[in-house]
Amino acid sequence: IKIKITDINIPVAFASAFEGEIIRRKNMQVEFDGSRVDCFELVQTKDASEIEDHKIEVIGPDFDEFEFGSKHSIAYIVEVAGKSMQSDFESVFERKFHSYINCIEGVMHTGQRDMIRVRISDTAFQAGFRAKHIGEVLYAKIKNDFDAVVDKCQVKIYTDAEKVTELRHSLAIPAFNKRDDRLKSLTDESVDVYYSCILCQAFSPSHVCVVTPERLGLCGAVSWLDAKATNELEPTGPCQVITKERVIDERIGEYEDVNEAVKKFSNGALEDVSLYSIMEKPMTSCGCFECICGIEPFSNGVIIANREYAGMTPLGMTFPELASMTGGGVQTPGFMGHGKHFIASKKFMKAEGGIERIVWMPKDLKEQVAERLNATAKELYGIDNFTDMVGDETIAEDPETLLEFLTEKGHPALGMEPMM
Ligand code: SF4
Ligand code: ZN
Repeated sequence: IKIKITDINIPVAFASAFEGEIIRRKNMQVEFDGSRVDCFELVQTKDASEIEDHKIEVIGPDFDEFEFGSKHSIAYIVEVAGKSMQSDFESVFERKFHSYINCIEGVMHTGQRDMIRVRISDTAFQAGFRAKHIGEVLYAKIKNDFDAVVDKCQVKIYTDAEKVTELRHSLAIPAFNKRDDRLKSLTDESVDVYYSCILCQAFSPSHVCVVTPERLGLCGAVSWLDAKATNELEPTGPCQVITKERVIDERIGEYEDVNEAVKKFSNGALEDVSLYSIMEKPMTSCGCFECICGIEPFSNGVIIANREYAGMTPLGMTFPELASMTGGGVQTPGFMGHGKHFIASKKFMKAEGGIERIVWMPKDLKEQVAERLNATAKELYGIDNFTDMVGDETIAEDPETLLEFLTEKGHPALGMEPMM
């Protein structure tokens, strides 16, 4: 017998009204920030015998052992079992954590995977909110929303920094990589349909992601397989099937049926969208993109900055500055939010010439994407070690120095047509 859980056992309120709530630094009891220290959230499928339903464990110090206003590591692993459970559903559950945790009064959540940030307000803390209550919320919501596939669920919350670091490397990153690898064999041409995602409309009311095998959602957490699984789990949910039968312009990836879908799901705010162009009808951005790319006029190229990068870019803007002009669910030609994995995609701004346009990335991001990006550059253009030609903050933080470097390296973007 399945029982719907309606009450969540926590000392503060839980309602969608709190989803957009902002917790300012001065009201912040404690913060867990994945861009500064190790953090992650993960769902894992287990055998029913390994799970004690509703068991919630806290491993490490609780919130009252942290100083007011301090930053720490956190990881929460939700383990589930069920006869109809599929590992493809794990990432779909995970993506819901954002909304679940934000619905808690006095708790704010951004990001996903190992790039999460969670803030607990002083009032929530004073009301008695502790680590185990995150587990209570995740347990109750997963059991409630996915009762068709989850029979048993338990939650482990780690606040022991060393343990979080160890598990991030031994468990979380391999799990995320495995999911990403599953997609590698799929192309936009090899599937019949794409999917919409409107999960971010809570924050960006007109934003729609069109998710294709070669272009994941800009948050980096919703791949085509995830969107497909979401649609299977919740046929009337945030991910709907989009056909792509009526091509308008192959070059920029524009389809009549995609436009119709985007118009419908954005409630009329968006008329048309291209899948492969940053200049013509680019896809909109909400607020949770992993990266932003923006046009760099001196080199005919684009620079990319990732959320974790705190420094300056050759455009004279930092990530937050770029983000403030890119988000909000509007189309801004020349600037676009996107997922990290999109960088090595053959469809990355294909209309403007593709990845050959990339002239600068933070060093850390370059290292993260190098293997896949170099493989794509080799395959598409026969270039070896493409990332050696791409600038970073140790090479240039201004356009002049960058241009010198690109000239010296013979970067292909210099010989391409201007983008505007
Ligand atoms: Fe969905 Fe896009 Fe938001 Fe990711 S960024 S959750 S794909 S709407
Ligand atoms: Zn978003």
